[in-house]
Amino acid sequence: MSDFDVIIVGGGIAGASLGAEIAHKRRTLIIEAEDQCGYHSTGRSAAFYLESYGGPEVAKLTLASGDFLAAPPENFSDQSFLRRRGDLHLSRDELPVLPSSVESWPIEREELERWIPGIRPEWQRALFEPGCADIDVAALHAAYLRQFKRLGGTVRTAARLAAGTRRQDQWEIQLEDLSTLAGGMLVNAAGAWADEVAMLCGAARLGIEPKRRTMVQLRIGRSGLRDLPLIDDSKGTFYFKGEGDRTIWLSPHDEIETDPCDAAPEEADIAIAIDRFQSVVDWPVERVERSWAGLRSFAPDRLPVYGFDAKVLDFFWCAGQGGFGIQTAPAAAKMAAAQLLGEPVDPMVAQIDPAVFSPRRFSR
Ligand SMILES: Cc1cc2nc3c(=O)[nH]c(=O)nc-3n(C[C@H](O)[C@H](O)[C@H](O)COP(=O)(O)OP(=O)(O)OC[C@H]3O[C@@H](n4cnc5c(N)ncnc54)[C@H](O)[C@@H]3O)c2cc1C
Repeated sequence: MSDFDVIIVGGGIAGASLGAEIAHKRRTLIIEAEDQCGYHSTGRSAAFYLESYGGPEVAKLTLASGDFLAAPPENFSDQSFLRRRGDLHLSRDELPVLPSSVESWPIEREELERWIPGIRPEWQRALFEPGCADIDVAALHAAYLRQFKRLGGTVRTAARLAAGTRRQDQWEIQLEDLSTLAGGMLVNAAGAWADEVAMLCGAARLGIEPKRRTMVQLRIGRSGLRDLPLIDDSKGTFYFKGEGDRTIWLSPHDEIETDPCDAAPEEADIAIAIDRFQSVVDWPVERVERSWAGLRSFAPDRLPVYGFDAKVLDFFWCAGQGGFGIQTAPAAAKMAAAQLLGEPVDPMVAQIDPAVFSPRRFSR
């Protein structure tokens, strides 16, 4: 008999949230390669909830997650994971077009100057998206892991999958330390390593590619920045938001192809970020307080992948969450759990078609 009904590979937000949805029904184990869950993409995000982000199909998962994040069930968390700040999508000319389901309205130059004193003259207008919020990512991830364990789930850290073989109706997993485990189903929630894990388990890769994104915390010679909206441009070349009274988080919106790795920022990308920031406002940049980078992993069509593999039995994909894996986690986990367990979907995701996210779309 298997040690577990389900073995989830990866203890980031994807593995933790799906685990928390199924642990009361299946003996579930999360194996995480690092010493702590959340060390990779989940611990490095820009931590915002932006309904328009990622296009209309991703927006459905984000919008479906919104109420849960804003007011989670009492047994999950006693406080909201969201803090509203709104987003100004700046433009030098045309305003961006957002999915019709997302509330937004135009702001002209005069009002922009009140929102962002010191904004440079070429930014003529903006679209304001009021629903944008910060997500307390660490608290959300911790709440999912807490729920997972409370419902009977087991987490093993420093446990890297080295090989998986399907034998006699179960998976035999070998870890890097040569120990073995047996499980009924295998979930691939390995983030940037999703294709690698698939190949280690005899499944074909889907073309999920990690892309590096740089983040910088800047000290600014000006106060009152904490509650700034998220500020980005309609062409997708930067975003920044207030962090402390005199600090901001800034990204050059980069997407640099890389192998899966422990990502680190490069000096050139930090310089590009600062240059782009200075093209938006005349605020003095005092210093770089810290910088980091993380990997955003995308399938070829940039939609996430949830569902059973087309060929390999009991191999379930939960990958390709790009730059939206935190804000979509509650709905995505409920949708994926229903598929994995073969049960009816939760009302939260009743309006969402899971076929859109199936890995089988690549083999049609
Ligand atoms: C700079 C940046 C900004 C972002 N901003 C946002 C944002 O504002 N809002 C938002 O919603 N999303 C954002 N994202 C995206 C979000 O962080 C990701 O979509 C999400 O964290 C992906 O979660 P994950 O669990 O799939 O991956 P990860 O957190 O990377 O977890 C995967 C885990 O699998 C483990 N693993 C890999 N191989 C193995 C193996 N062989 N055996 C065992 N374990 C293994 C890894 O160690 C890792 O911990 C951002 C990402 C970055 C990098």
